[in-house]
Amino acid sequence: MTSSAPSNALQFVFDNSFVTQLPADPEAENFRRQVIAAAYSRVQPTPVKNPQLVACSADLAREIGLDPASCESEEFVQVFSGNHLLPGMDPFAMCYGGHQFGNWAGQLGDGRAINLGEILVSNKRWTLQLKGAGPTPYSRGADGLAVLRSSIREFLCSEAMHHLGVPTTRALSVVDTGEQVMRDILYDGHPEYEPGAVVCRAAPSFIRFGNFEILAARQEYQLLQQLADYTIRTHFPHLGEPGRNTYIAWFDEVCRRTVDMIVHWMRVGFVHGVMNTDNMSVHGITIDYGPYGWLDDYDPDWTPNITDAQGRRYRFANQPGIAQWNLIQFGNAIYPLIEDADPLRDILESFGSWYSDASRTMKAAKLGLQAYRPQDGKLFSELDELLTRSETDMTIFYRSLAKLDCEADPSGASAEALLRPLLPAYYQADQLTAPDKEAIAGWLRCYVNRVRAEGRSNAQRRQAMNSVNPKYVLRNYLAQQAIERAEQGDHALVRELLDLLRKPYEEQPDREAFFAKRPEWARNRPGCSMLSCSS
Ligand code: AMP
Ligand code: MG
Repeated sequence: MTSSAPSNALQFVFDNSFVTQLPADPEAENFRRQVIAAAYSRVQPTPVKNPQLVACSADLAREIGLDPASCESEEFVQVFSGNHLLPGMDPFAMCYGGHQFGNWAGQLGDGRAINLGEILVSNKRWTLQLKGAGPTPYSRGADGLAVLRSSIREFLCSEAMHHLGVPTTRALSVVDTGEQVMRDILYDGHPEYEPGAVVCRAAPSFIRFGNFEILAARQEYQLLQQLADYTIRTHFPHLGEPGRNTYIAWFDEVCRRTVDMIVHWMRVGFVHGVMNTDNMSVHGITIDYGPYGWLDDYDPDWTPNITDAQGRRYRFANQPGIAQWNLIQFGNAIYPLIEDADPLRDILESFGSWYSDASRTMKAAKLGLQAYRPQDGKLFSELDELLTRSETDMTIFYRSLAKLDCEADPSGASAEALLRPLLPAYYQADQLTAPDKEAIAGWLRCYVNRVRAEGRSNAQRRQAMNSVNPKYVLRNYLAQQAIERAEQGDHALVRELLDLLRKPYEEQPDREAFFAKRPEWARNRPGCSMLSCSS
């Protein structure tokens, strides 16, 4: 590994606050261990043989001050594969713990993520991080690597979520390392070699609930306070100088941001799949894209994660409750800084009403209503029943609903006529029974009357709905198709999906093929509907 830049194409000014303001692990050797009384360990990325760029996000490149053309350079691929450090980079892995599937798991940490450094661009702080760049002191029994399959999934979904308006970590690049990595995808004793990869992620920081939990669990209260003070001063400066009231205000803000993030997930049909507390960001941004999935047919009980198939803890409809459970763990972790449970409890109790208020507003917006009214609760719950009663594609349903004529009086319209614009959303439209059709038409009549009461024109309503109901999402089978081609060395579909998902709310007439229900072959296929944590 060299640290002098071969050219000056990639110029960043690093401002490494985490490593300069928080205590480092004094041990410099890279071996697996418990790291006590430190926030992080310095560690170098492991060089790789033959790195090749699969794709990069030109949007993020621009945002962090890079000319997108420089992403195609040899220097870029060397830096963002972990082969070469730029001047000012000071790589480190963070120490954190977490509750996994509801149980305290002790020290976890960045087992395969290495933070390269922090940059400030237009007053915005970005931490650049490699995922899959080799082992760290936190790798436990694993290899510190990532495979191309999961790296493409993380890369595409990060950028797709950003363009959907969902708070998220970003992804700058995905690089094929040219090396092979052994994985047992289905955990059934059939490990195979797969291409390795490294993703460069970017976020204000990668600080998780678990960074605080590990310090509280070890009763390292002084360090706990140092980390909280650092986090507030660096990332929440508007809250003022750290102190008891500021910690409470900070907890309040983390809870509100988390509510906001979850409401967005529910709006677009995203299921994270592994909402452990080590996968929850203090910034309230989506982090750690592993066995996530998108609802094709609307099923509140669906979880993409095969490890979660039994308990379904992380199923779509359970996400708000789990977020609250995770915030309770975070509240417990920072309690020693406050030593009064009441204000934390009050905030946690508000979670429910914050979530339901925001969720109602979101649901009203999805239906093109200008404002939520109390009597809409029935409309929402009946819709939920309808969407689950017959297999209905969530994305196509809302886009089709926007096309419904709500200016005409629906009372005289037949069920068939009312239903016609919605038919593309049904997985088995020809198997809808007469009672199914009557139920749907009955709901549509209520809906049309509700819209008519507000007096919004079809055009106004359609435009409003199409700005919150995406036309294109990263359907599980699309990501899988892109992966299969990339594993053969063809990156075209990865790049096309990246481009498609830059404008998820816009009609893209020549890409109508991506606005299609999940094909039958993808229904129960690994990678499409059953995702593994093996990544
Ligand atoms: P995850 O379930 O991906 O959030 O990971 C939980 C913990 O396992 C984190 O501390 C990860 O850094 C670590 N981890 C996951 N995969 C690997 C790997 N291949 N090598 C080392 N650590 C890993
Ligand atoms: Mg994780």
